Amino acid sequence: MKALVFHKPKDVRVEEVPDPRIQHVRDAVLRVTAASICGSDLHIYNGYLPQPAPMILGHEFMGVVEEVGPRVSNLRRGDRVVVPFPIACGVCWFCRRDLQTHCEQSNPKHYGPDGSPTQKGGGLFGYTELYGGYAGGQADYVRVPFADYGPRKVPEGLSDERALFLSDIIPTGWSAVEWCGVSGGDTVAVFGCGPVGLMAQRAAWLHGARRVIAVDILPYRLAFAKRLCGSDTVDASRVDPVEAIRQLTAGRGADACIDAVGMEAQHGWLESAKNILTAQVGSIRALRAAIRAARRGGAVCAIGVYGADADFPLGEVFEKGLRLRAGQALPHACIDQLLELVCDGKMRADDIVTHRLPLSEAPRAYRAFNDKLEQCMKVVLRP
Ligand code: NAD
Ligand code: ZN
Ligand code: ZN
Repeated sequence: MKALVFHKPKDVRVEEVPDPRIQHVRDAVLRVTAASICGSDLHIYNGYLPQPAPMILGHEFMGVVEEVGPRVSNLRRGDRVVVPFPIACGVCWFCRRDLQTHCEQSNPKHYGPDGSPTQKGGGLFGYTELYGGYAGGQADYVRVPFADYGPRKVPEGLSDERALFLSDIIPTGWSAVEWCGVSGGDTVAVFGCGPVGLMAQRAAWLHGARRVIAVDILPYRLAFAKRLCGSDTVDASRVDPVEAIRQLTAGRGADACIDAVGMEAQHGWLESAKNILTAQVGSIRALRAAIRAARRGGAVCAIGVYGADADFPLGEVFEKGLRLRAGQALPHACIDQLLELVCDGKMRADDIVTHRLPLSEAPRAYRAFNDKLEQCMKVVLRP
């Protein structure tokens, strides 16, 4: 089959690789019908997350069941399914508590309680050796472990592009808003107007927000937030977003601030130089702004990915009495509810797709999405 293989930072290629096989009684093999590139793939692409050996990337995908192992009784050949990006067993201590990204069984080599650079949580599709070393879905076919637990059948009549993003960005934006405890009348500030930020904005409205303030540094991404999400926008390349948010909230700050930027936030040379001295990876600039822009007693969620320790404004978090939550989203826990919202037309991500390309053009798609070229917002790859 053909697949997108990561070789080294900025070097991804579409290559002929062996077809995946059933390796375990709970596996399925899917023929991929649509896959996307996530902002999290960019951390591998840009070398922030190490991947020493070639690996098939992609954790946002859907497809048609080709083959199932003997213990997968809920799926049959020909079923159309969408697959949550974490690989979870469904029976361990964490899975039973709806904390599937912390599954104790899907990442035996690198799992551990520490959360240190060598002790990770459960496995993720196409997301480095540290997260289980599983091949991803930017490919003609993909092996899905624990296929009796993760994949959800897609109702007839729901298009691939409507269903696909239930694997990641829709549940991710939703998780951020839930974790902040957003409720009726709240003002929610979302830093980052990439796909995850846009979904967080939509989820905020669905949770009854009175006002949503969207922050980014790229005018075309802010235009998406205004046009598709009805958010107020703040261009952080021109004004101080913290001041702007305080001005819109009677000086108090937002009830909830969501960091949908992560460690690759654009930052200046001074911070880069300091990073070299302190061995810090990337920047916590967006998270810092989210903490500063939150009101006393408010909530902050880092849904953007961070991979290393950092110089952190703990004093401010304490003084303001903030609730703080971070981590990989929990798609298994909310995908069924979100599938209903997607079927009812209340939630969608298909309208943010700017690039539809064959899998063979995946390297070009990576460049466009990473470098924010051609007003790229979201890519759909068709094997
Ligand atoms: P993206 O790269 O398309 O979006 C990031 C946005 O942040 C861009 O629009 C960029 O212009 C903006 N930005 C950069 N620096 C900024 C700054 N200083 N201030 C404000 N905005 C700034 O990526 P995405 O797909 O939307 O993903 C966003 C983040 O969410 C990534 O870190 C990704 O890894 C993470 N993510 C996390 C989960 C999870 O489970 N926690 C799931 C999916 C994605
Ligand atoms: Zn992702
Ligand atoms: Zn588990």
